[in-house]
Amino acid sequence: MKSKGVRVIAVEPHSLAHRAGIRPDDRILTLNDEAVLDQLSYQFLVSQKDRTRVGFQRPDGTTATVTLANGGDGLGVDLAEDDVKVCKQNCVFCFVHQMPKGFRKSLYLKDEDIRLSFLYGHFSTLSSSDDAELDRVIRERLSPLHVSVHATDPVVRVQLVGNPREGHILRKLDRLLEGGIQVHTQVVLVPGLNDGWVWEKTVADLWERRAFQRPEQRGGVLSLSCVPVGLTAHREHLPQIPDVSPEFARQWVKVWTPQVRRYAAANEGEPWLLLADEWFTRAGVEVPGRAFYSRTWAQLENGVGLVRRFQDHARRFVKSPKAQGFAGRHVLMLTGSSFAPTLNRALANLNRATGSRLRGVAAQNFAFGSSVTVAGLLCGQDLLYAAHADREAHGGDPRWVEAVVVPSASLRTQTGPSDQYALPGVPTRPSAQFLDDLTLAELEQRLGLPVIPSGENLSQTLDHLLGHESWHLEGMTRPQGAYLP
Ligand code: SF4
Repeated sequence: MKSKGVRVIAVEPHSLAHRAGIRPDDRILTLNDEAVLDQLSYQFLVSQKDRTRVGFQRPDGTTATVTLANGGDGLGVDLAEDDVKVCKQNCVFCFVHQMPKGFRKSLYLKDEDIRLSFLYGHFSTLSSSDDAELDRVIRERLSPLHVSVHATDPVVRVQLVGNPREGHILRKLDRLLEGGIQVHTQVVLVPGLNDGWVWEKTVADLWERRAFQRPEQRGGVLSLSCVPVGLTAHREHLPQIPDVSPEFARQWVKVWTPQVRRYAAANEGEPWLLLADEWFTRAGVEVPGRAFYSRTWAQLENGVGLVRRFQDHARRFVKSPKAQGFAGRHVLMLTGSSFAPTLNRALANLNRATGSRLRGVAAQNFAFGSSVTVAGLLCGQDLLYAAHADREAHGGDPRWVEAVVVPSASLRTQTGPSDQYALPGVPTRPSAQFLDDLTLAELEQRLGLPVIPSGENLSQTLDHLLGHESWHLEGMTRPQGAYLP
């Protein structure tokens, strides 16, 4: 049976909790007599009053209550990570079903948790959220959320998510919106399944519910992104679905790029309908200018605008005095094949301006198959192979470059809910590792050269190269942080 409350894993010395006798392994059961469900509910309840009545339980089962004058602040405890909820869908394009065998167990977990949607922008189909949970979202104002709609037509949605109970996404969405919750939405587009009239209906239904349209309604749909389906080479025993071909992507870009601008014009200039970068890279065309993307870069983590943001930053950076820090540097930068042309254009400008010798090389994805071209899904072995091949192509000299840069998005840390509440000085991040468990340190050892993560732009790459700054690993939890160099 699941234990009640949340478990304390650390208590800050001299904090209110410490002075009240709360210790690691105690469980906080209630705050002001309301049950504490998880870390978010702790955060919400603790902030409600200046004085908080804390009900807690010792490991031996005895309970106690103390009242603390916390002024709406935390009590000085670090809490154990919540159990992640498991998704109840069976989507035709689920990436977990398309994973090759042999990766670590946790990568096969189909997590779908509305709390992670709020905290990290993970998209949720809302399958694990019943009405009680939606009401809790409203009460605790967990807004904005990120919701995978895929199709508003109930029959098609059931086909897409493979769950006969989850056709009516608009019912759940409306409950959230009526409760004042803002929502970013996405559609993963599968040719022949949810394009055509299904897509048009989805756009119309969500546009009707866009944010701030009805003054009495504070909730609304903040954005809708369209992402092309991604298929790997590992689809045994799965439904046959078509991939997005370059020709399909070109047509989509041709038809929907003007529509993005039209919806933006009708939305006081703020882009609402968003096209993922992958439409443009698959079509082999340049991504549009800055005005095509939301002012706040909404859905950047979903691969919308990463290429444009990188390019704009690179253009400014090359003209800055800091860029001269690359002068004379000879570095190999590995990336996914979809980002390589963009990276190489930026590096050519940088090399011209600074006399550096930086080269971008596309690493092939052997683990997932060559149809997977994004940097975020490259494995350590893929990067190792690409670096070895580059070295052989350059005469086999073990010092053929001075350093190898790998995409930050291909690294994972254990960044999770507990990081939100970590106490100062409590280490929570183990060394970064790739999807196939190879660590950055092992890759470095196997290559005999410094290997550094790229960061989000050339300025961060330089910081990492010079060792001025600790690595920027925030991109690790991005499900599709695909286009980072
Ligand atoms: S909701 Fe996500 S995790 Fe669940 S089946 Fe669909 S794609 Fe997979």
